[in-house]
Amino acid sequence: MELTCDVIKDLLPLYVENISSANTRIVVEEHIDSCDSCKKELDKFQAQEECSFGTNTLPLKKLQYTLCKRKYLTILFSVMFTLLVLIIVNEYLTAPEYIPYTENPVTITKTNNELFIVHFNIPGAMYQISQYRENDNSGYIYNISMWSSIWNRSIYKDAVDDFILNPRGEVISSVYYSSNDGTEDILIYGKDRSPNGGTITLPRLVLAYYATIAAVLAVILGIVLFLFRNNKKAKAIILKFFTLSISYLLGHICIKGFSTSSYNAIRDFYAILLAMIPIYCAMLIGEKLLVSRSR
Ligand SMILES: [Zn+2]
Repeated sequence: MELTCDVIKDLLPLYVENISSANTRIVVEEHIDSCDSCKKELDKFQAQEECSFGTNTLPLKKLQYTLCKRKYLTILFSVMFTLLVLIIVNEYLTAPEYIPYTENPVTITKTNNELFIVHFNIPGAMYQISQYRENDNSGYIYNISMWSSIWNRSIYKDAVDDFILNPRGEVISSVYYSSNDGTEDILIYGKDRSPNGGTITLPRLVLAYYATIAAVLAVILGIVLFLFRNNKKAKAIILKFFTLSISYLLGHICIKGFSTSSYNAIRDFYAILLAMIPIYCAMLIGEKLLVSRSR
């Protein structure tokens, strides 16, 4: 008589517990080699076995398996939460605090061979220098900004190296300093390009667009989710995308709060994406935890 899968499945608990006879073991192993369905069943039993704490009754084992799974999920959830906290703390410690011109952050000197050298007067601070060509090609306009952060102030105390503005002898029309705080850019060298009213370096609003897109997506997907609430397969897929757009919004709130303007949009955007990873994972794990609790 050929052994049916049902018989094998009945034998599996004994096999896993190692309390079957040697002949039974051989029969089970031979069958497992040629039957995927029973092989899967065996893997499941073995996973439960690793998870259990040495009892022999199956219903208890099943309960322990669930508890064990919940324990792992809870640990994973805590890891994701910790990761998110670390990302937020790092973001807070390294957030740029722009240095206003009143603190005398830079001085410019000119060498005998027409090189312009920027000296940075605040130790450990970071700087950014952008260069634009004049419309009529007569020279270059420079825009300098300088910032520090809690991290920088406590770690780096070294003087910042000088920077040569025009290493290839470019003609310099004007050099501005941006305090990036809504005040006018300050002319520190050359001709004032807008003598009647200064230019203000404005924060970028690109994060506002991204947040809006994510919010609109979340609403649309929320509605679609509601419409497909009876279609298990579609619901699972839509839920993933819905969770993704919600994670972006939560990531934005974690990094930027409810502000959407940024002088450092790229940096903030990457930080939001980084924060999104643990948020997304935590949300998926949280959902699994809720499902296992309601079972
Ligand atoms: Zn089988």
